Amino acid sequence: MMRALLSVSDKTGIVEFAQALHALNVQLLSTGGTAKLLADAGLPVTEVAEVTQFPEMLDGRVKTLHPKVHGGLLARRDLPAHMAALQEHGIDTIDLLVVNLYPFEATVAKMGCTLADAIENIDIGGPAMVRSAAKNWQDVGVITDASQYPAVIDELQTLGKLSNALRFSLSVAAFNRISQYDGAISNYLSSVQFEEDKLSEDYVPQMAVFPGQANMYTAKMQDLRYGENSHQQAAWYRDMQPQVGSLATGVQLQGKELSYNNIADADAAWECVKSFEEPACVIVKHANPCGVAVGQNPLECYTKAFQTDPTSAFGGIIAFNRPVDGAAAQAVSKQFVEVLMAPNFTDEALEVFKGKVNVRLMQIALPNNYGNVRNALETKRIGSGILMQTADNHVLTLADLKVVTVKQPTPSELQDLLFAWKVAQYVKSNAIVFCKNGMTMGVGAGQMSRLDSARIADIKSQAADLSLEGTVVASDAFFPFRDGLDVVVNAGATCIAQPGGSMRDQEVIDAANEHGVAMVFTGVRHFRH
Ligand code: 5GP
Repeated sequence: MMRALLSVSDKTGIVEFAQALHALNVQLLSTGGTAKLLADAGLPVTEVAEVTQFPEMLDGRVKTLHPKVHGGLLARRDLPAHMAALQEHGIDTIDLLVVNLYPFEATVAKMGCTLADAIENIDIGGPAMVRSAAKNWQDVGVITDASQYPAVIDELQTLGKLSNALRFSLSVAAFNRISQYDGAISNYLSSVQFEEDKLSEDYVPQMAVFPGQANMYTAKMQDLRYGENSHQQAAWYRDMQPQVGSLATGVQLQGKELSYNNIADADAAWECVKSFEEPACVIVKHANPCGVAVGQNPLECYTKAFQTDPTSAFGGIIAFNRPVDGAAAQAVSKQFVEVLMAPNFTDEALEVFKGKVNVRLMQIALPNNYGNVRNALETKRIGSGILMQTADNHVLTLADLKVVTVKQPTPSELQDLLFAWKVAQYVKSNAIVFCKNGMTMGVGAGQMSRLDSARIADIKSQAADLSLEGTVVASDAFFPFRDGLDVVVNAGATCIAQPGGSMRDQEVIDAANEHGVAMVFTGVRHFRH
């Protein structure tokens, strides 16, 4: 007769599962809370305390930590010496373990979680049993998540036992779960800014922005077919607690599987579009915006964004910060699009893409407030290490601008400057962004020289048949010499925003005055690599 030990904090589906085990003639052992629930449902269940002849004690800190439990889980059935030892000590084997752990992650995710509450939610006996059962996978099946119940019942019903393959995969899943759990504990504790003089039962610690350990990417979203190129392997992981409004919280409504490059570009587009409060559209190619616009509605935004660089927009990744309606969907469907993201799609819009099965539609909720930067850490893998930083969330306001020229910007130029500046924040350095009337008119990205980025932005606007006359320009970092400024002004710009702070600021200011254009210093730089 098989014996199963059930000890779960999340009791979802446990009664039905136990009923199915009972129907299969499996004997049920259980801990306090779980045992009560099963008994209340009319199931015959033996309390672990009865088996160990030892009461649960220390507020549940010690329930199952006993040789009668661990011996039953760890004994190798194929070794006569192991089986003899069990017999000598009156220990019965346990063949199936069902455990889910104290909700540590959910507890520390709550606002105002006390240190005491976090500590009390560190499960001790649960992970110990899971380790024992997972180590002895050849003889014991270990369930660590309710989603595994059906597969186990299915095999018990059809085979009368669990297959090696299922026991092994359950063991792997169990060790993954334990490692994730310990990672969460380690992250939490490493982030606590310990203050000895504040210690009490209701002490709510301040948490560091940078966790002491960087093992927070523990939840795997999906394996990817390949990485940046087809000979590279890849997977997508998300933060344990993804931020509201982040790509990881999105739902794919239709289309082919997302690729590595799709995801990277989608993230760039989404991060950019959600920085706008007014309706906006962002088209990204190879991690850079190749068209960004704000307007009255999604159709107008898209039409303007597309005009910036129709050639590059081919096969682009498109993001909206408003629900996509039928009109915008019709317009977008005329171009080749890889991924389309929005907070929502109207029925008409969904209808338009029904026939385009390859288009990946992603629905992602917008964050409730634009200033929410919790957990917004960026990491970059470098040789045997990682770099970490808080995200570049700086928001420029009119009050931050310092006019440094004789010529003053007009009110409409100032509006466009703020727009251009926001776009430049999402363009790889060196970034030069020409804009007019809430639309990008030329984007120069990712060049090693600012001068080349300026020239490229000019060339691209000509290729798109746009005129740069009367545009504003944002430069993500200062002009080290006047030559970059000369290029953008000769191209048609009448107002320039740049951080300032160069040794040769005066040379550049003199050049702007000589040209009779307006220039403002923002005092902040937006390198992006
Ligand atoms: P129950 O609700 O059945 O009383 O408790 C179930 C929970 O107790 C499960 O989450 C399980 O992982 C945990 N648990 C089982 N044995 C022990 C133990 O010896 N110590 C601690 N701290 N938790 C245990």
